[in-house]
Amino acid sequence: AAKAAGKSAYRTCTSALRESAVTRAELIADLRRAVDEGQLHLEYQPIVDLATGAVRSAEALVRWRHPRLGVLAPERFLPLAEETGLILPVDRWVIHEACRAAAAWRKRDPQVTVAVNIAAAHLRRPDLIATVTAATGGAGLPARALTLELTESALIEGSDVVLDRLRQLRELGIQIAIDDFGTGYSSLSYLHRIPATELKVDRSFVSRLGTEDARAYATVDMVNRLAAAFDLAVVAEGVETDAQHAAVTAIGCVHGQGFRYGRPVALPELLTTLTPVDVAR
Ligand code: C2E
Ligand code: MG
Ligand code: MG
Ligand code: MG
Repeated sequence: AAKAAGKSAYRTCTSALRESAVTRAELIADLRRAVDEGQLHLEYQPIVDLATGAVRSAEALVRWRHPRLGVLAPERFLPLAEETGLILPVDRWVIHEACRAAAAWRKRDPQVTVAVNIAAAHLRRPDLIATVTAATGGAGLPARALTLELTESALIEGSDVVLDRLRQLRELGIQIAIDDFGTGYSSLSYLHRIPATELKVDRSFVSRLGTEDARAYATVDMVNRLAAAFDLAVVAEGVETDAQHAAVTAIGCVHGQGFRYGRPVALPELLTTLTPVDVAR
């Protein structure tokens, strides 16, 4: 039933949370139990090859089925999770779950990979590498099939210790994506030092493609060239319309993600939609 209610149920969460008598303290207490009580689940959004429509990867996105408030989007609880440090067990669960899902998916399509978002706090933790290797090893997933998505702001706080940790992850074969690229303040010299493998062009630029805004086109084009120069992969995020799809393809972005290709779905649905997305539509 929750599934059938779909997006509309999801949207009302914002107001439900605001109007409900659930206080911040209660929500924190609830979140403390959420991981152990199995209230979190993941949805997977396809990342496609723009030339062929083939699904190459999927980004794991966390949702919380709150016992009284219904399904909460990440924006509703991740800020609280970050403030309280509960983001660490949440993301650890996400990494393990996503690796298990990817291993199952690869039984049908051995080339696919999975991406998970991780909060800045993890980069300050010496046990990040142990967490990641336990998850990939436990699931039987090759390290190269896991991408960690980090935001520019998470990376910019980075000390030499953080850069070292990222290099160790790279040496293990883990992929590192810079998420929401273009919205932070990272300098080109910093980009040079981060051992990233991929840039994800932020949705805010992509969403202005196909409008009168010529600067949006120039921005996405610039990020795509920058990635090529640094030998990084590119994913255009938040592609919703045919016009945006045509623009990111014309610019030469290799990969795309967005409602134009597929919304986030539960794992069983991901497993049954392996056919290429119709990019020629
Ligand atoms: P993100 O990593 O940039 O993920 C993409 C977000 O954009 C997702 O929202 C996705 O549903 C949405 N999106 C994708 N395509 C389109 C599109 O075509 N149009 C529009 N309007 N939106 C699109 P979601 O699932 O609500 O996640 C929001 C953010 O929460 C994520 O942004 C990520 O920063 C964070 N997040 C999600 N899951 C996790 C997690 O497990 N751990 C951590 N630390 N952060 C997470
Ligand atoms: Mg992401
Ligand atoms: Mg993003
Ligand atoms: Mg984003």
